[in-house]
Amino acid sequence: MSETQLSSQQAPLPSHGSFQQAPLPSHGSFQQAPLPLDVAIIGGGFAGIGTAIRLKQKRIENLAIFERGSAPGGTWRDNTYPGAACDIPSRLYSYSFAPNPDWSHTYSGSAEILKYIERMVDDFALRPMLRFGHNVTGVHWDEASSLWEVTFDDHPSVRARSVVMASGPLANVSFPGIRGLDTYEGHKIHSARWDHEFDFTGKKVAVIGTGASGVQIVPELVKVAQSVKVFQRTPGWALPRTNLTTRRTTKDLYRKFPAAQSIARKAWFWGHESVALGVVWNSPLTRVVEAVGKLHLRRQVRDPWLRRQLTPDFRAGCKRLLMTSEFYPALQRDNCTLVTWPIARLAPKGIRTVEGIEHQADVIVFATGFDVSKTGTPVPITGRDGRVLADEWSSGAKAYKSISVAGYPNMYFTFGPNSGPGHSSALVYMEAQIDYLVDAISHAIARNSVLEVRADKQSEYNTDLQRRLQRTTWNSGCSSWYLTEDGFNATMFPGFASQYVGQLKSVNYDDYTVTEYRARVTAARAATV
Ligand code: NAP
Repeated sequence: MSETQLSSQQAPLPSHGSFQQAPLPSHGSFQQAPLPLDVAIIGGGFAGIGTAIRLKQKRIENLAIFERGSAPGGTWRDNTYPGAACDIPSRLYSYSFAPNPDWSHTYSGSAEILKYIERMVDDFALRPMLRFGHNVTGVHWDEASSLWEVTFDDHPSVRARSVVMASGPLANVSFPGIRGLDTYEGHKIHSARWDHEFDFTGKKVAVIGTGASGVQIVPELVKVAQSVKVFQRTPGWALPRTNLTTRRTTKDLYRKFPAAQSIARKAWFWGHESVALGVVWNSPLTRVVEAVGKLHLRRQVRDPWLRRQLTPDFRAGCKRLLMTSEFYPALQRDNCTLVTWPIARLAPKGIRTVEGIEHQADVIVFATGFDVSKTGTPVPITGRDGRVLADEWSSGAKAYKSISVAGYPNMYFTFGPNSGPGHSSALVYMEAQIDYLVDAISHAIARNSVLEVRADKQSEYNTDLQRRLQRTTWNSGCSSWYLTEDGFNATMFPGFASQYVGQLKSVNYDDYTVTEYRARVTAARAATV
């Protein structure tokens, strides 16, 4: 996407109507602001930025995006480790309403994805709506005014008619509970908080974790480090990935004929949909996926013992599939060693494994994933009648179509409970969520109303969802960040992406109670417009 292209395709629409004309309060002056925001968006990653774009296109501009960091981008701002890239093709891992003909590769790297997000911010003129350094400490419903109050640790609180929780599941890093973590005297780096000042050249490196991040980091580190020891707890299923450079002629074609790019996106979409049959459901086709994984392993790893160490013992898809053609070759370099003995503890000079060997390391890379909230909420949320969402979700998060929760009116979640894809692009799911919630918000604004999903509809939805999850690979018996400790799946959607998108095509207002805004707010608005 050239900068001009995005802006010409999606030129901001002029505002009209009394709500949209309410001025956006300036930074730091929210307490005095006479009018509440129409929408408070929590989080400035892909979801928050996409939500703001779609709201703007509906001429809802009295909004703000609250971001605790100092730049937009969310997980792509944070994950800058060497080799960081998306394992979903960029053509599909982008918004259809912001097509980018300039992706450099089939699977673009994190820097390019971050640039794409930043370009959307500029081309859709979102900078004035971004409030950096706003760490949300709570979101509370005020029945008297029918408004949400969003509080921050270092800023005055704001009030908003609707709140979009777009903080993302992969925001908080997870250091494992390994004994002696603080006794280690060398350098510690988490994959999602990379230390670019640290020079790995000639260093003895230990990497803990062989998930989606670990398999991307190791092939880069072996190029510069003296030695790399990879500590693997559970081998994952890896599938080959061919990453082609996009030709100039292809970029020109997509720029001149956007429909061609849209066709390419659809082709990727349906290609991934076909894989769902084996990846989402625990079915005979899962064996086909496993056969591809075993063939990939056999072709890349000659040593039978190493192959055995790398062979998973759970159904393919149960943990996230690893899309990599670089990891196995990296492990077989002379300066790389795979360690499969469990870690006993960290020692001052390195990592001690249970059989008593101490592996010395100048630096330990923790590719150990994220602290994902599957129970509880990322920030305290209090809804109608003082109910606390963290309490309601204490044994597993539940929502209606992953977006709305009974008792929490005019609140919407992106990447909420059971919205994760195992086989397709998160952005396809996110775009559907955004269009749904933007419709609901527009509806509420146009009718001056409050929307709250019905508890019986939410319960019906979840009963069916959990029944369907039983037949999926994620619930087939491995441990992963998708499940709670009790094995409850609050993370993934048990179906095709097209089913997920289909259920969000339009808001069924019969599944919501629609009430009027409190008169006080309406009157306040009438007096000021
Ligand atoms: P992850 O999938 O949770 O993997 C964490 C790794 O650390 C696992 O291998 C885990 O082993 C290991 N580990 C955790 N605690 C350990 C301990 N105490 N001792 C030894 N090993 C330990 O984390 P991630 O790789 O950062 O990926 C998280 C998610 O981020 C992915 O599922 C994906 O959604 C996203 N991601 C996406 C991409 C992309 O290309 N789109 C790239 C990176 C990440 P066990 O398997 O035994 O638990």
